Amino acid sequence: MPKMKIAVVTNPGRDFEIQERDVPQPGPGQVRILVQACGICFSDHLVKDTPMPGQLYPRSPGHEVAGVIDDVGAGVTFWKKGQRVGIGWHGGQDGTCLQCRRGDFGNCANLNITGISYDGGYAEYMLAPVAALAQMPNSLDPADAAPLLCAGITTFNALRHSRAFPGDLVAVQGIGGLGHLGVQFANKFGYRVAAISRGKETEPPKDSAPTFL
Ligand SMILES: [Zn+2]
Ligand SMILES: [Zn+2]
Repeated sequence: MPKMKIAVVTNPGRDFEIQERDVPQPGPGQVRILVQACGICFSDHLVKDTPMPGQLYPRSPGHEVAGVIDDVGAGVTFWKKGQRVGIGWHGGQDGTCLQCRRGDFGNCANLNITGISYDGGYAEYMLAPVAALAQMPNSLDPADAAPLLCAGITTFNALRHSRAFPGDLVAVQGIGGLGHLGVQFANKFGYRVAAISRGKETEPPKDSAPTFL
């Protein structure tokens, strides 16, 4: 049985532990993903330090995953070995509850969260239900792509639903893990963009030409 390394939290408040485990076999409706890169999100600390109700341990966090499908389980037809995929916070829906039948998968009564409901991307391989997969172009570098799966989606969707029109002034407050993506999306959306932040580390270089506004 081939082995893999996985970083797990065994109990809340404990340090990560690197464990060796058997490479998992995908069950029905699941794929196995060879993890190429996994972003680190602030929400990973829920598993690490302040568990959500019902959190089971040990658990490997990580919901900004870029990888390649390595094997598919029974009943999986669309997804094939070798396809590039991303997995974000949305770890899959049941497809049968009232919210799902309304197409509101994000509020599924039995929603799975990647890296919380099941082991996430802090591992060499992970399993995911097909409902959690997003197809990803081969041209994207895995390390660049991974943060788009949570920080990127969060800021992209916030702008998309903001009702701002091209040419409007959009202010992005806090130029950190999410904000630096928000500024770039807003710029590409055609907004006039103001970046609001504090601290010298996020200040643009003095000699740089103003990019926005
Ligand atoms: Zn996140
Ligand atoms: Zn549902």
